[in-house]
Amino acid sequence: MSGRDYDAIIVGASFAGLAVARRLSGRVLLLDRNEVGAVQTSACGTPLWVPQALGVAHSVLQIHDKLTVRGPSRTVTYDLSAVPFCTFDYKRFCQGLLEQTRARFLRVSVTGVEDGAVRTSDGRFTAPVIVDCSGWRGALVNDGAPASPAAAGHFSFGLETKTDLSDEGLSFWLDGSLIPRGLGWIFPVGTGSLIGLGSYVGLSKLKPALERFLRDRGAVATTYHGTYFPHRLLRPTVGRLFAVGDAAGQCLPLTAEGIRPALYFGVECGRIVQRILEGRLGLTEGLERYRSIVDRHRQAYRLLRVAQWVAEHAPTRWFVALTGLAGRRPVLPRWWPRYGWFGRFDPDPAVV
Ligand SMILES: Cc1cc2nc3c(=O)[nH]c(=O)nc-3n(C[C@H](O)[C@H](O)[C@H](O)COP(=O)(O)OP(=O)(O)OC[C@H]3O[C@@H](n4cnc5c(N)ncnc54)[C@H](O)[C@@H]3O)c2cc1C
Repeated sequence: MSGRDYDAIIVGASFAGLAVARRLSGRVLLLDRNEVGAVQTSACGTPLWVPQALGVAHSVLQIHDKLTVRGPSRTVTYDLSAVPFCTFDYKRFCQGLLEQTRARFLRVSVTGVEDGAVRTSDGRFTAPVIVDCSGWRGALVNDGAPASPAAAGHFSFGLETKTDLSDEGLSFWLDGSLIPRGLGWIFPVGTGSLIGLGSYVGLSKLKPALERFLRDRGAVATTYHGTYFPHRLLRPTVGRLFAVGDAAGQCLPLTAEGIRPALYFGVECGRIVQRILEGRLGLTEGLERYRSIVDRHRQAYRLLRVAQWVAEHAPTRWFVALTGLAGRRPVLPRWWPRYGWFGRFDPDPAVV
């Protein structure tokens, strides 16, 4: 075995990649073009149980037990106390997960797969098991032809900035004059808030509208970050590749929650890959088992996709009225805990 041959290679060291890596005990190579936790693309809002279950609760910045949906003429407040949410520090979260892995981390850019080898800016690396966790572009699963958001129509786009605005609870803004077929958000993060806009139809020139949104709130932008995220399940396996997180379209439609699915499917994929590495499962059987786990959740994705379609196409005041109905007793206790616990994984010790 040379220094370029591994038992498993994982491309992408963010939520999905780290969740897979921390389950593995063999010779594992973890590749990313950035240092772990260095480039945040997300508002980092997720149920509080997620960082707790993964042993990275020290990354939590603020806990939220209410969510406010603001329309042009009506405001609806949800009580989240049955499943509280939190916002967390991306760098601390990712580095906390990295500390739980035995993988070798290498900072390189990955350009595709060739004859079973992963092609990178530092040459080729081989492994019998390869997992693509490279986000919406799917560097491996779309080998040589990275996903094109405009052509595919499977992607939303989000842009946000950190501001010094303090607030309580999470807020979503549904207002066609602010952003048509999309939403705005304010996610407090302890000191300050992340404020952003998301377009369900993948419009990426959101800065002027975001600047107006900030001005109206009296908030001052710092640096901006933004990218695409999928709103449709894509292929969880391609040939002999596993795909996890945004690379497999696992971000939830409507709410744009992609962290929890990336971690959940990452944990599941990691369990399967570990069994392959131990010789207890064949690769073909492992790929099949992972596909069937993802398939079990297709119905939930379809429902959220329909809800997103309604949010995009119904008059905003109707949609806000619907969110009002959904936020009331006895409706809320019927669906909120089910949504909040979606993808629940038990406190999940890493292999190390
Ligand atoms: C503005 C915005 C706000 C969001 N807010 C939330 C939120 O509050 N809560 C939530 O749950 N979801 C949120 N999301 C969605 C969420 O960020 C994604 O769904 C989630 O990050 C997916 O995780 P992932 O690990 O699959 O991919 P990513 O987090 O995108 O990670 C992919 C990794 O692969 C690396 N990589 C990519 N290409 C290559 C390559 N060619 N070579 C080497 N490395 C490569 C990248 O550097 C990166 O580290 C938000 C998205 C956006 C855009």
